[in-house]
Amino acid sequence: MPTRPPLKRGTVAFHCFGFLVKVEPTTWLVLAVILLLMVPSGAGLSGVSATLVFAVVIYGLGILVSVLLHELAHAVTARALGHRVTEIALHFWGGHTQFHGESRTWWHRIAISLCGPLTNVALAVVTYLVAAGLEPSIWRGLVLLGWCYINAVMAAINLLPVSPLDGGHALTAVLEKVTGSERLANRIAATLGLLLGAGLAVVGVIFQDAISTRFGTTGVIWVVLGGAYLAFTAYQAFRHDAQLQRVRDFSWRPLARPCVLGAPGAALAEYAGDLLQGARVVLADDQGQLVGIVDDAAFRAVPAHAYGQVALSAVSRQVGPAAAFPAAEDGTDALAHILENTEREYLAVDAAGLPVAVIDRAVVHAFWTQRTRG
Ligand SMILES: [Zn+2]
Repeated sequence: MPTRPPLKRGTVAFHCFGFLVKVEPTTWLVLAVILLLMVPSGAGLSGVSATLVFAVVIYGLGILVSVLLHELAHAVTARALGHRVTEIALHFWGGHTQFHGESRTWWHRIAISLCGPLTNVALAVVTYLVAAGLEPSIWRGLVLLGWCYINAVMAAINLLPVSPLDGGHALTAVLEKVTGSERLANRIAATLGLLLGAGLAVVGVIFQDAISTRFGTTGVIWVVLGGAYLAFTAYQAFRHDAQLQRVRDFSWRPLARPCVLGAPGAALAEYAGDLLQGARVVLADDQGQLVGIVDDAAFRAVPAHAYGQVALSAVSRQVGPAAAFPAAEDGTDALAHILENTEREYLAVDAAGLPVAVIDRAVVHAFWTQRTRG
């Protein structure tokens, strides 16, 4: 199986229900902001105390758990419907769940999209019911009702039928089903996202006094920044749609070079003919594991009269675990695999694990840059 590229600095990774969960450093920034904002406002009632700080920390962690449960709901539903989930990431703007490839079944897409915000609806109801049975206290007011409020807001925002929010994904699936055009569906949902985001940012600026009276300065900041971010991501959804059309047509096959298999101890002389004709020589050990590939520069540095004395392993470099991908994969999956990993060359392998072709990442990259220009 291909492995993932190394984690970004400061990212914490763990597994949850079999899914890789990455917590990006900006997540802690949000937690810190919550702490800085909530402690002084909570202190207005009874002064800063250890209990208050503790309650605010628990409240912040509860928000993280809510976001995680939202993403897990996407992931679990996707897996139950037969899709492979690559990872869940938590970051400054909440989180996202990444899939391998894309579901083309419209009701799968709706189910996967909506179960996230519906989880927040359920959490809001549960926390409200628990709070309703308690005496007024910091735990009831700040923590439980706070969670209820945050989950209700998360559900409401994510259900908005605009790209790239969950409601927008569901709308896109419905529109695609109705209009029969993926392109039109993507563009309508992205336009709605752009309008709503830009509208929110403008409203935030124009009505900042009214908003800050009701929700404080942070309310204004959230509306303006959130709106701008929504507009920006909707704009990215536009660009993504244009790319998507190109990705659908991508094939690594015209860019691939033929390859032959050699043993690490074999003499270079045996393969020099293949190498000179532009084929790649892939090294496999006794167990059939792909262990290396002959390096072009190293091969060319060997004078022709010495080919008989040099072993293949002496002019090879190792191939990383991400180098191999199934030859049956093409289009979106193959392109994503090649561009997301950092191997110099990729081996398309058949069902038996034997390489059928070698693809140079730089060639794919150049090809792709050319295709996506303008
Ligand atoms: Zn979601």
